Amino acid sequence: PETITIQELANRMSERGVDVIKLLMKQGQMHKITDVIDADTAQLVAEELGHTVKRVAESDVEEGLFDTVDVGENLTSRPPVVTIMGHVDHGKTSLLDAIRKTNVVSGEAGGITQHIGAYQVTSPLGGKITFIDTPGHAAFTAMRARGAKVTDIVVLVVAADDGVMPQTIEAITHAQAAGVPLIVAINKVDKPDAKPDRVRTELLQHSIVVESLGGETLEFEVSAKTGQGLETLLEGLTLQSEILDLKANPERSAEGTVIEAKLDRGRGPVATVLVQRGTLRTGDIVVAGAEWGRVRALINDLGANVKEAGPSVPVEVLGFNGTPEAGDRVAVVESEARAREVTEYRTRQKRERQAARMGSAGRTLADMMR
Ligand code: GDP
Ligand code: MG
Repeated sequence: PETITIQELANRMSERGVDVIKLLMKQGQMHKITDVIDADTAQLVAEELGHTVKRVAESDVEEGLFDTVDVGENLTSRPPVVTIMGHVDHGKTSLLDAIRKTNVVSGEAGGITQHIGAYQVTSPLGGKITFIDTPGHAAFTAMRARGAKVTDIVVLVVAADDGVMPQTIEAITHAQAAGVPLIVAINKVDKPDAKPDRVRTELLQHSIVVESLGGETLEFEVSAKTGQGLETLLEGLTLQSEILDLKANPERSAEGTVIEAKLDRGRGPVATVLVQRGTLRTGDIVVAGAEWGRVRALINDLGANVKEAGPSVPVEVLGFNGTPEAGDRVAVVESEARAREVTEYRTRQKRERQAARMGSAGRTLADMMR
């Protein structure tokens, strides 16, 4: 059943809680400000106080905000979004750095790269590949927990001198649970004690059958240190993405996910957003979780200001009124009023969830303070 606290009802009407309590008292109901009343009572109170009531089903507020998948016309190929996972010290960070370096031509406009949580490189086969630059299971799990699906392909890094380890298995489990295809990068093959074939057979025990053993999982021997095999790995990612036939409609209002967000002393809230559908433009009104704002600037992974960002493009977004959270879904809305409606609704939801979690402990304390 729909309910609301007296405090919340008063807030939404911009009335004082005490006036609501007085009115209920006149009707023979004794309440304190933290009490919960049902929607019918709340409506009576609101009308009594001269407010027009529009009861909105919870789902209505979020209605039409996200499409999750694009259908119909204007579908065009989009770059794959790749996350690198694997056991600690197997070379995730080194690989991400090495891949990025293979691609950044020094002297290129805005050639000084900056860390924004994700970056794009050009594949030797043409087309782009987007890497989420925050490796680790924590980020992946956090996003999944919030219902955000950002990764198209997982690159599983296994060090050839160490083999399959607990977090390797964990990564396999995560990818399988999320239904995301895996590509194996056998790293550190430059080391004298590298045993890439041992990695292949160890993977078999976890039902990953690599291509050279007759399976379907692409595998590449690489070295983040020497750069060996990196171009071939990028080619493999492009081939895998062609199989996946990844498409999105760039000709619509943007939707995406917050990859990282922080409060910057000079620039205010800064969120790195991976655009997943549509095109995000400066001037757009965006909501992300319980925050909203008008896009003041978009900055790409090379630190350059851009006017727009299409599907699979990561950009820093400036202009949020507050700092959203990693994993928050982003959508462009048509007006500030709509942005306020959505974010106020989510803020209420958040508050109500917190209140519910506080549960009886909070209530007892409140009762004691009366
Ligand atoms: P992460 O914990 O998975 O991010 O691993 P790192 O990228 O931090 O790498 C762990 C260590 O392995 C570092 O000392 C790296 O320099 C080293 N390393 C990573 N890749 C290679 C490689 O291909 N060859 C060699 N010889 N060392 C590597
Ligand atoms: Mg690392």
